[in-house]
Amino acid sequence: MDINKLSINTATFKHLNLKEVADLCSKNNITAIGPWRDKVEEIGLKEAVKIIKDAGLKVSGLCRGGFFSADSHHNMDDNQRAIEQAAELGADCLVIVSGGMLPNNKRLSDSHQYIQEGLALMVEYAKSLQVPIALEPLHPMYAADRCAVNSLEQALQICNEIGEGIGLAIDSYHVWWDPQLFKLIKKAGEDDKILAYHVCDWLTPTSDMLLDRGLMGEGVIDLEAISNEISNAGYNKYVEVEIFSNRLWQLPPQLLMQKVIDAFEKEV
Ligand code: ZN
Repeated sequence: MDINKLSINTATFKHLNLKEVADLCSKNNITAIGPWRDKVEEIGLKEAVKIIKDAGLKVSGLCRGGFFSADSHHNMDDNQRAIEQAAELGADCLVIVSGGMLPNNKRLSDSHQYIQEGLALMVEYAKSLQVPIALEPLHPMYAADRCAVNSLEQALQICNEIGEGIGLAIDSYHVWWDPQLFKLIKKAGEDDKILAYHVCDWLTPTSDMLLDRGLMGEGVIDLEAISNEISNAGYNKYVEVEIFSNRLWQLPPQLLMQKVIDAFEKEV
């Protein structure tokens, strides 16, 4: 993949603060960043906007809003804050992780309904601030506690039912296993619903459900094929490298950045 498309999601450098990641990006001629909200809130929104601007970076996406089942109001206070932060940062989209099952309720369909209601409320507000909402389906292993939207098909259906103002964040780690993947990427492109693309790799064996993801090329995902399909579907914006890895976080930041750049050029 062309290096000009590379955006660094701050999760890849979770051991650094926002300023350190931004500086590392500009030192390596990278033009975009995908911050997590904890990194923004740690230093304050105003300062975050300044740091990102001073480093000459675009914001490919802000991670994340959602977690609708966190309270009985669809977590809307926090979600409105997330939308306002995304607007202030000039983010291309606000990434949404939906949250898992409702408390004391084993009916997954109730969670699905609650999530969709929350998303519709969010999109209403986000449209007024011109922030596109990017729904990210997560691997089914997170259905109970993190995200009950688990396939591209389900996510695309929700996006199409809600309509304008919402699309997909497609993350290779979460969707690579899907036998319908290419068909769904094509359909999402036709529906004009691809808003973000995240990459990392699936390691075998995986030692931790959350924090043992691989650098592109280290695992089993055919990233080149997925990238081709996404580009054929009309997506030509930034590609975020988002790697949660206890192992890679041990590396010196510049060494990790070089590995990310090399893998991005060779494997994505
Ligand atoms: Zn992601």
